[in-house]
Amino acid sequence: MQKSFPCTQCGACCRHVNFSELTAYLDRGDGICRHHDTGTHLCTIYEQRPDVCRVDTYYEQHLKKQYMWDEFIEINLIACKQLSELDKSE
Ligand code: SF4
Ligand code: SF4
Repeated sequence: MQKSFPCTQCGACCRHVNFSELTAYLDRGDGICRHHDTGTHLCTIYEQRPDVCRVDTYYEQHLKKQYMWDEFIEINLIACKQLSELDKSE
């Protein structure tokens, strides 16, 4: 069985949805997703969140042919780090 994506639930991706054309439609107007709880950093529609927010589903549907799962995790973790650094600089 493949390992799970090591998400820390920091919420940085949900605070910068305007950075991707895939998630820009979720922007409440300041880059933060309209479903993001800024207090808890959690998703208020977690069970119903779109496929683009489901790392493993998105991988299976769109990127499986391009990347091995481990490789995909590495690429995503770089993006997570960049997003969390943006948080710190704001
Ligand atoms: S930025 Fe990465 S680690 Fe943080 S919540 Fe999003 S997917 Fe998880
Ligand atoms: S729908 Fe939920 S998981 Fe997706 S960006 Fe918004 S808050 Fe994050």
